[in-house]
Amino acid sequence: MKAFLDDRQRAHDPKHFMANGAQQPNPEVPRRVEILAEGARAAGCHFETPADAGLGPIAAVHTAEYITFLRNIYTRWRRIEGAGEEVIPNIHPANRTDGYPKSAVGQAGWHQADTACPIAEHTYEAAYWSAQSAVAGADHLIGGGRMAYALSRPPGHHAFEALAGGFCFFNNSGIAAERLRAAGLRPAIVDVDVHHGNGTQGMFYGRGDVLTVSIHADPARFYPFFWGHAQERGEGAGLGANLNLPLARGTDDAGYMAALGTALERCDSFGADVIVVALGLDASIDDPFQGLAVTQEGFTRIGAALAATGRGLLFVQEGGYVSDTLGANLTCALKGAMGG
Ligand SMILES: [Zn+2]
Repeated sequence: MKAFLDDRQRAHDPKHFMANGAQQPNPEVPRRVEILAEGARAAGCHFETPADAGLGPIAAVHTAEYITFLRNIYTRWRRIEGAGEEVIPNIHPANRTDGYPKSAVGQAGWHQADTACPIAEHTYEAAYWSAQSAVAGADHLIGGGRMAYALSRPPGHHAFEALAGGFCFFNNSGIAAERLRAAGLRPAIVDVDVHHGNGTQGMFYGRGDVLTVSIHADPARFYPFFWGHAQERGEGAGLGANLNLPLARGTDDAGYMAALGTALERCDSFGADVIVVALGLDASIDDPFQGLAVTQEGFTRIGAALAATGRGLLFVQEGGYVSDTLGANLTCALKGAMGG
């Protein structure tokens, strides 16, 4: 399977992460790249450096204001006397109809949903190349390829059109889906990350030309809390084109596969001809987030079930954090898709 990764994606090295009021090390570490690349190679992937498709594919789903913010905010932040080493918001607008702020601190609050997406010197560059890896994967399918894997890191599915969050800056899966749609395909995004793909949902919520499906731990007691419930089905032209399948904490392979079956039936009825798999691996029973309990065999079955649809598959890396099985989980998913 063709795979895409640019070395510049490693340069983002976030330090801060606040969970339940406690300062912790940020788990979205550059070492994930090494572990995931090794896992992909073990499945038979061959990595290429993505071409530079420019800002066009990113600007197709993100606002110009947001892209400018991500590109410049670190430099502006450094000019604030006594500022911390990373851009982290400390105030948020009560609602987004409030005026757009001029100051760096105000804009950080506007464009960063939480404290889990700190921005430092190399964040923009890493996020840019993470998106380019996804675009290169989409272009491989547009060119007639059947499958590709984009090692998109930093991940993307919590990023909205103008909002970072949850380790995510550019929405790589959304960017890839829009690229495929613009080429005349009818894409579905199937998000198997343990966290709801809230940014992806938000990006396509009013549209009926891209199906968004997410299988995740029930947000009643799990990040991202405010999105991911079953009653969120899309609106306007997009009504019915968003499907959320929340699962009880600790759901095992059997429960997961039942939900995936529902997701893939919806891809059928939507008439999708290509599936962007937002491939989080944090539904693993070994993942530090401990949301669901998918085993290595489960990941093999997930890959096999996706391949059995007969559709083009673009795997875009999302979450999945350092554990003893992170690399093996990826190997299993990709090998499953390639028929063992
Ligand atoms: Zn996740």
